[in-house]
Amino acid sequence: MSNPFFGERWDAPIVDDARQIPTPVGATCYHCGETVVDGDRGLMRAVGRLVNDELVASGEPIHAECDLIGVSGHTMGVCHCTGCDTGSRAAARLVWERVGQARGRDLAIRPTGSKPSAKPRASSPETGADRG
Ligand SMILES: [Zn+2]
Ligand SMILES: [Zn+2]
Repeated sequence: MSNPFFGERWDAPIVDDARQIPTPVGATCYHCGETVVDGDRGLMRAVGRLVNDELVASGEPIHAECDLIGVSGHTMGVCHCTGCDTGSRAAARLVWERVGQARGRDLAIRPTGSKPSAKPRASSPETGADRG
């Protein structure tokens, strides 16, 4: 299943079929530790933590670039291998840039002909938390 995403849709398969949710402003990105602000892009992911020896899973935000560094950081030379601090958002942004350069197209720009993101929305509020 696709993870819900927030912010403006970007050019990656991970958001192609994903549901857009309101940006969790004020929440903390679990990768870089920075606060999510309006205008950020990212995903919600299930994160498991040990709390009093019990595994507690919760949905937490991660910036789009912070998610990307885990996937493409090594390939793009921003990795522990090259002595980089991969936990910083600056490093994540560098990977985002390099991936865009490598593809010849900025990740932030959706290709023409991509699916319209504005699907008609149901007017009734979502109720079930068991979706997805
Ligand atoms: Zn982050
Ligand atoms: Zn590496």
